Amino acid sequence: MRPDLFQAPDYYLLDDLLSNEHKLIRDTARAWVKKEVSPIIEDFAQRAEFPKQLIPGLAEIGGFGPYIPTEYGGAGLDQISYGLIMQEIERGDSGIRSTSSVQSSLVMYPIWKYGNEEQRMKYLPKLATGEYIGCFGLTEPDHGSNPGGMLTNFKDMGDHYLLNGAKMWISNAPFADIAVVWAKNEEGRIHGLIVERGMEGFTTPETHNKWSLRASATGELIFDNVKVPKANLLPNKSGLGAPLGCLDSARYGIAWGAIGAAMDCYDTALRYSKERIQFDKPIGATQLQQKKLAEMITEITKAQLLTWRLGVLRDEGRATSAQISMAKRNNVAMALDIARDARQMLGGMGITGEYSIMRHMMNLESVVTYEGTHDIHLLITGMDVTGFPAFK
Ligand SMILES: Cc1cc2nc3c(=O)[nH]c(=O)nc-3n(C[C@H](O)[C@H](O)[C@H](O)COP(=O)(O)OP(=O)(O)OC[C@H]3O[C@@H](n4cnc5c(N)ncnc54)[C@H](O)[C@@H]3O)c2cc1C
Repeated sequence: MRPDLFQAPDYYLLDDLLSNEHKLIRDTARAWVKKEVSPIIEDFAQRAEFPKQLIPGLAEIGGFGPYIPTEYGGAGLDQISYGLIMQEIERGDSGIRSTSSVQSSLVMYPIWKYGNEEQRMKYLPKLATGEYIGCFGLTEPDHGSNPGGMLTNFKDMGDHYLLNGAKMWISNAPFADIAVVWAKNEEGRIHGLIVERGMEGFTTPETHNKWSLRASATGELIFDNVKVPKANLLPNKSGLGAPLGCLDSARYGIAWGAIGAAMDCYDTALRYSKERIQFDKPIGATQLQQKKLAEMITEITKAQLLTWRLGVLRDEGRATSAQISMAKRNNVAMALDIARDARQMLGGMGITGEYSIMRHMMNLESVVTYEGTHDIHLLITGMDVTGFPAFK
């Protein structure tokens, strides 16, 4: 892969909306991605391997629990800072951002929000440093967009719970130390349980042959009569709203992350268009290529504004789940469109690992599907504006 020459586009001078602290956090993450992620990521993606050596650095830039209070080992940052960190990590690779999102919003968040003090003290500091890596088990083979239909269940055996079932498509599963697993009790109510690697009957087979998110490890979670201590049930929230609350936080981070991937594709295509000569002039001097670049920077700028505003609303405690859905859906589709156009602008070179674009494009095919598909988020917006749920 070529040297990382990334220069972030800021067409509407949105840096003016950021505090000095925001810029410092963003620039630290940006420099780390340039130094640690860009030189190795293509190789790890080609080999379909998660680069575990990035874990301590991810912790240092605030990639694990940026908004979790410092008393639990988190960075205690606001939502804009969290978003900026996700943007920079995904500028490097969506798979690395996935690990960061899962750890922060799908593992640390539920333990912080729905756990008791003992659980917080036991797990959060180790998750914040990356000593523990976590995963989040919601999706099942027969229940993806409709997780409320899940079959994974647990029974109260007096001194422990007995957990049975299977989860599929779980990021970080193959090497996670703990899993936050969503399962139904005997009354059919959904609860979160912390399952630890090493518990008898708990296995995590890896999912192979992905063309997307190749630098992220994906797997199954299989529970065959797993005895889970009663102390591992998250006591403070139950029902489908509990996992959905985690997804709000993760989807918000994805909305920012997708901008990072889009910025990288745009920046690469812009530079290439100035250097690549065909018919005795740079391809960037042709109207057709300028149309692509002009539309890219317009869409990136719109997404930056949408997402910054969403961050302000989240910091004020006013953002709705439907607003988060809109931003996730818009930004990931925007990034995917830009990746496809940017790929074409590089001609044959666009399909090689010399440039990051094809890897972003393939990664985004997962990002547009996980954490609520593109269509499901549209249905959420539709329901929000009409009042009619059209899911069934
Ligand atoms: C790489 C990767 C990593 C993932 N990581 C995790 C993870 O860490 N934890 C986790 O729990 N899950 C994870 N997922 C699962 C992901 O969230 C699901 O794939 C996603 O929710 C969609 O579910 P599904 O694949 O079963 O598709 P389905 O729900 O079967 O959907 C198939 C198609 O039907 C459409 N559809 C579904 N219902 C409707 C409807 N009512 N109306 C109109 N169209 C509809 C969908 O939009 C989609 O296009 C991951 C997935 C991938 C690919």
